[in-house]
Amino acid sequence: SPKLEIKDLNVSIEDKEILKGVNLEVNGGEIHAIMGPNGTGKSTLAQALMGHPRYEVTGGSVLLDGEDLLEMEVDERARKGLFLAMQYPSEISGVTNSDFLRSAVNAKQPEGKEVSIMKFMKQLDKKMAQLGMDESFANRYLNEGFSGGEKKRNEILQLMMLEPRIAILDEIDSGLDIDALKVVADGVNSMRNPNTGFLIITHYQRLLNYIKPDRVHVVMQGRIVKSGGPELAERLEAEGYDWVKEELGIED
Ligand code: ADP
Ligand code: MG
Ligand code: MG
Repeated sequence: SPKLEIKDLNVSIEDKEILKGVNLEVNGGEIHAIMGPNGTGKSTLAQALMGHPRYEVTGGSVLLDGEDLLEMEVDERARKGLFLAMQYPSEISGVTNSDFLRSAVNAKQPEGKEVSIMKFMKQLDKKMAQLGMDESFANRYLNEGFSGGEKKRNEILQLMMLEPRIAILDEIDSGLDIDALKVVADGVNSMRNPNTGFLIITHYQRLLNYIKPDRVHVVMQGRIVKSGGPELAERLEAEGYDWVKEELGIED
C-alpha cells in the first residue's frame, strides 16, 4: 500500500523560511485535508513535494514507499506515482489533451510497454463521460481557452487516468460553482481505494462536505499546528481560524 512520510520538512523560497518542520504521514486509502489561512505554506508543501525548483528543502526528509523522494527528479516522482494537480503547464499549443494524457499514462508503464490506443481511448471516453466532459475536449489543445471549471475537471481527468499512489490536490475547489464542485468531488470519491492516498489542500470547508476526509490538519506559520477528524473542518467553517490562533497563542 502507498505510503508518504514527511518528517520535519523545512522549505525556503528565496532564502525566506516558509515551512518550519512539517510532519505528516499519508497511507493508501486515506484522505488528509490540509487547511489554513492564506499564505501559511500550504501550496509550498505541495510544490516542495513535487520538486518545484523554486522551493528549496533546507531540512527534514520525505519518503515515498520507503524511497527518498527528495533525491528524485521531478519526472521520476511522477513515475513513482506522485500526482500534483496543476503540475502541468497551463497551456500547451499543438498538444491535444488526449496526446498529453496518453504520453503521461505511457510514461508510467514499464520500459517499452505502451498502453494500446484502443484501450486508452476507451478509458478516456469512460472517464470523460463520468466527469460530464464533452467528447470534443479530448481533441482540444491542452488547457487552451479552457475555463476555470474546465481546467479543474481536466485535472480530475488526469488524476483518474494516471491513478497515482499519492495524489495532491491544491485548491481544486477554487472558482467552482456547486455543480462543478460535486462533479469534481464525485471524481475524487470514485478514486478512493487502498492504492491511492490523498492530500487535499483547501482553504474552505465546503469541499469537505462532498469529500469526507479521514484527517484534517491546520497549517499556520509553516507548521501543522492542529490535527483532528472531519469535525475539525466543521468547527473551522463555523468559527474561522481565530480560535486556533488563540489556543496556540499565535499573533498575526
Ligand atoms: P498558501 O498556499 O497557504 O496560501 P503559500 O505556500 O502559497 O501559502 O505561501 C506561503 C508564503 O510563501 C507566503 O508568505 C507567500 O508570500 C510566500 N511565497 C509563495 N510563493 C512564493 C514565491 N514564488 N516567491 C516568494 N514568496 C513566495
Ligand atoms: Mg494561497
Ligand atoms: Mg496556496
